[in-house]
Amino acid sequence: MRVVLCGFRGTGKTETGRLLSRLMGLPFYDTDSCVEEMAGKGIHEIFSEDGEDVFRELERSAVSSLPPGDAVISTGGGVILDQRNVSALRRDAVMILLYADEKTLEKRIAGSGRPRLTDMPLEEEIHHMMEARRPHYLSAADYCVDTGARNINEVCLHIRRILSEGTVPPAKRRESVRFMQESGIDPLDIKEFEEWALGSSGDHLTRFFGIAGFPCTHSRSPHLFNTLFSGLHHNSYYARFQADDLDRLMHVVRGLDVRGLSVTIPFKHRIMDFLDFADEHAAAIGAANTVLFCGGSAYGFNTDWIGIREPLLDLHGEDAVVLGAGGAAAAAAYALRSLDMEVTILNRTVEKAELLARRFGCAYGPPDAFDGLSPNVVVNATSLGMHPDTKSPLRRPQLTPGMTVFDLVYTPPDTPLIRIARNAGCRTIPGTEMFARQASAQFWHFTGIKPSIEEIRRILQ
Ligand code: NAP
Repeated sequence: MRVVLCGFRGTGKTETGRLLSRLMGLPFYDTDSCVEEMAGKGIHEIFSEDGEDVFRELERSAVSSLPPGDAVISTGGGVILDQRNVSALRRDAVMILLYADEKTLEKRIAGSGRPRLTDMPLEEEIHHMMEARRPHYLSAADYCVDTGARNINEVCLHIRRILSEGTVPPAKRRESVRFMQESGIDPLDIKEFEEWALGSSGDHLTRFFGIAGFPCTHSRSPHLFNTLFSGLHHNSYYARFQADDLDRLMHVVRGLDVRGLSVTIPFKHRIMDFLDFADEHAAAIGAANTVLFCGGSAYGFNTDWIGIREPLLDLHGEDAVVLGAGGAAAAAAYALRSLDMEVTILNRTVEKAELLARRFGCAYGPPDAFDGLSPNVVVNATSLGMHPDTKSPLRRPQLTPGMTVFDLVYTPPDTPLIRIARNAGCRTIPGTEMFARQASAQFWHFTGIKPSIEEIRRILQ
């Protein structure tokens, strides 16, 4: 077995790694020691004499030249900041995050006489670095182990128990299979899930991910994420968690110790009540489409806005219209405002447009107000055009050459609005672009590895 330990300094990675390797009878490697050996000097000297870039380069080469096969590997605190390291370390390995509360870290680091990393007071330094690194630590590991209240022996015992038994008792696995059988998803999907939860495809260390929604039978995320997991040699499976009752769904998700969830209609708002922490974007939008579980806590993120923002990066400061005032429109308004665009929200139910406009500093109106505006960017965030309601929210004369028209609807990929806009000489962006980009950002939250948009497009073809 190959076990990799990651985490902030002071979480006990090296001592734990050394003892764990003895207990398991496996070779032990420490990436910081490898770097020191390669450079012929201590880490502190490398930082002060050569700078952080040289250190990171050495660290990358230490990680990529680790011998393959069974081993226990402990890593430097910043190793997970580079996804090339994460990708190399996670391949055919179980990656374990060691963490502790900031007060404990401060006590341990202050008592160790280790050199400081910044000019800030220690407490501030730890807080500042943890804030910046938390999403990286959360995403990079298969399991999270709290070392705050445990000594090294207890931490090793706990890790050994995880490695030999996993974290999901057979009764919980069977409960999740029963849940799938009652959920109305395709029998083939149920069979595949059963193979991973109870059968020969998975084992006790398989980590589960999935999409939570109602309905989610047609989501392409399982195909996409499972293809990515197998290409990266991760022992993970992505399932469909379909139910109209979010409490029941979350009970099953917790029982299966699910590592990460994609959240879709109709739960993106309600999921916020289940979170212990929401990042600034999810909090501002008021919705999360990504949840990560670590050490009993649920962390929420929103990647929808990234999927809308990225294709429009070159249109900074333009005038824009968002059609619709639901969940996708909130992510769109947030994304466009982050690009300093002047945004008008137009919606069938004008009161909803007004509420959204007030939150994000936009103008608003009914759909027919479009004719009095001359936007450079139009984002369709209504469900008009979505199969089977294949109407366009705009008519051909309303579109002019040079406009950028982004239709968030992606079923079908070539919507009536996209066809009309293309014929009118507009630049068009289909909803599949948003899907691919939000999925790429979501996969990063799940694994610490960001697949390229080209790779995602290829898998979804
Ligand atoms: P939502 O919260 O239910 O909002 C739907 C919006 O569409 C509301 O503003 C609603 O207006 C409007 N609408 C519905 N039927 C209409 C009609 N017949 N005429 C005019 N307006 C109508 O849904 P959502 O989550 O925001 O999703 C909206 C669309 O974005 C969906 O097609 C969804 O598939 C797509 N989406 C795509 C991605 C992606 O990755 N590409 C991600 C998320 C969502 P009222 O307020 O008047 O009801």
